[in-house]
Amino acid sequence: FRKELNHIERLSLVGQMAAGITHEIRNPMAVVRGFLQLMREKSPSTLDHYYRIVLEELDRANSIINDFLSLAQNRSVKMELCSLHEIIKELTPLLWADANLRGQSIEVMLDEEVPELLLNQKEIKQLILNLGRNGMEAMDEKGQLTLETKCGTDGVELYVKDTGAGISPAQQERLFEPFFTTKSQGTGLGLSLCLSIMERHSGKISVDSEEGKGTTFTVFFPFTQTDPSSQRLRSGTLPPLVD
Ligand code: ADP
Ligand code: MG
Repeated sequence: FRKELNHIERLSLVGQMAAGITHEIRNPMAVVRGFLQLMREKSPSTLDHYYRIVLEELDRANSIINDFLSLAQNRSVKMELCSLHEIIKELTPLLWADANLRGQSIEVMLDEEVPELLLNQKEIKQLILNLGRNGMEAMDEKGQLTLETKCGTDGVELYVKDTGAGISPAQQERLFEPFFTTKSQGTGLGLSLCLSIMERHSGKISVDSEEGKGTTFTVFFPFTQTDPSSQRLRSGTLPPLVD
């Protein structure tokens, strides 16, 4: 007698397996990385280039594992009332350092009307970093990355905008597929992770892009009934009374 697993059960089984396997793979990788570092210090500098490549590839494998784990686990994450703006302010120096190395600039425009939102801080940080990094990777020098928030009547919108290469319509259709990448060093997991994060937040993520001009990702956080502060703070009006 074979019991059919339903979708949810199957997903959580995959998540558990992924957690176990990635843990087992990560440990030996950390050991290899440590010894490589030591070997690099004791080796002639002519080999430095090779060590750098090996370490970078190891780090890449590690980030694939991390992204895959977040994607596969699809766990129910804890939502808390948080300030989206605080998260953005915390991440700005990080993004700025990255942009600065590339000769790019960052602009942040925050709508003061935006209330606290029910969200998982760790996931939204990851989402903003993923979108920000994608934007920077799509731009050459002098590009500008803009993070902007806007408070609407039924939710909050976050825009991550770049002045980069843009995305062809054919590629736009595939962006959110796991492992879709056009980069030699890409994992193709960043956007599919962003999509699953926004699904967990009952929100939306969409893209608007013009080739040669740039790309804007729009992330939408809906106001929900379990999110009292957003009801209260919205343009100073009280929610309608119900009896
Ligand atoms: P990765 O960055 O590892 O390639 P992502 O899932 O983050 O994976 O992105 C998938 C693909 O979507 C990228 O390889 C790139 O082709 C495209 N893309 C994502 N963001 C942008 C952007 N801001 N501008 C242009 N192309 C983008
Ligand atoms: Mg990416």
